[in-house]
Amino acid sequence: MKAVCWFGKGDVRVENVSEPKIINPHDAIIKVSLTAICGSDLHLYDGYMPTMEKGDILGHEFMGEIVEVGREVRNLKKGDRVVVPFPISCGRCYFCQKDMWSLCDNTNPNAWMAEGMYGFAGAAIFGYSHLLGGYAGGQAEYVRVPFADVGHVKIPADLPDEKVLFLSDILPTGYQAAEYCGIQPGDVVAVWGCGPVGQFAIKSAYLLGAEHVIAIDRIPERLRLAETFGGAETLNYEENEDVVEELKQRTGGRGPDACIDAVGLEAHGTGLGIMYDKVKQTLRLETDRPYALRQAIQACCKGGTVSIPGVYAQFADKFPIGSAFAKGLTFKMGQTHVHKYMRPLLERIQKGEIDPSAIISHRIRLDDAPIAYRKFREKEDCHIKIVLKP
Ligand code: NAD
Ligand code: ZN
Repeated sequence: MKAVCWFGKGDVRVENVSEPKIINPHDAIIKVSLTAICGSDLHLYDGYMPTMEKGDILGHEFMGEIVEVGREVRNLKKGDRVVVPFPISCGRCYFCQKDMWSLCDNTNPNAWMAEGMYGFAGAAIFGYSHLLGGYAGGQAEYVRVPFADVGHVKIPADLPDEKVLFLSDILPTGYQAAEYCGIQPGDVVAVWGCGPVGQFAIKSAYLLGAEHVIAIDRIPERLRLAETFGGAETLNYEENEDVVEELKQRTGGRGPDACIDAVGLEAHGTGLGIMYDKVKQTLRLETDRPYALRQAIQACCKGGTVSIPGVYAQFADKFPIGSAFAKGLTFKMGQTHVHKYMRPLLERIQKGEIDPSAIISHRIRLDDAPIAYRKFREKEDCHIKIVLKP
């Protein structure tokens, strides 16, 4: 079968590889009907996640048709159409039972690696390094889904793939980021990053009752989408370099009640701060560039919340902990507990409260993935969200 494989920094190729087989009675094999490239895949593409190996199959946002199930899978059958959440979760451990699916204790066979780095290991993730389990991803014609009896949502026939694919990751991720803000009536929420995660965070903030959302980025078409799809007011940080001051001005001097960092470790920026991060990152004295996160902490209202869906890998410098302490901020962050949100969000899609397909900018063949990765990375030709058809 064809699959999108990682070969190194800036090097992904479409290769012919063996088809996956059932190896555990809880597995299912899916024929992928639609998959997507995520901002998280760029962290692999740019070489920021350790423990990738040449030939690893990428992709954690995918859906398709069940072609085979293991003998213990009783709630799925051949022909069912499913979306699969990106974290692989057992459904039975302490954390899954508490609805903290991305912290599952049982699915990462390389837990020792993650324990070495982080103290404890979370759930494995499809196509996302050996540190996170070494499972083959879904940017392929077929994929093996472990714990398939737990990790899937069945899709009614009347809903097209494009409307439901993002239940696998970015829609729940944006929603969880907004939910973490504990939004109260009248709240103003600021969102750094108008990529797919930022777009769904904006939309979800309104769904959860925010009065007003301010979206920050530098890419015109993404800022435009934040206005038209999300209904946000926008702030271009290349035109308005003092983002913190600008946000104070726009919020009556108080700062946003909640700040969402939907940028993560590869932030861009202007001025000295970003130069500092780039030099330290290049010298490997810092793994992450927390440029947007620092602004979010500085700008946030006293007593407010900083919610971080953007991915961080390990160490960030000049983290303004004093500012967070002085203002009594709350932090919420982490990989999304996708399983928890899939069904409620499917209902919102069915009710017409949200149409996730509105953010798709490019529909291409799996064969063209290498070009798509490059263009998505460069944010060229209005690439906002790319879906790949095997
Ligand atoms: P993306 O790369 O498409 O979007 C990132 C956006 O941030 C871009 O539009 C970029 O211009 C903007 N940006 C860069 N620097 C900025 C700055 N200083 N201020 C404001 N905006 C800035 O990625 P995406 O798919 O939207 O994902 C965003 C982040 O969310 C990534 O780090 C990704 O890994 C992470 N993510 C996390 C989870 C999770 O479970 N927590 C799930 C999916 C994605
Ligand atoms: Zn993703």
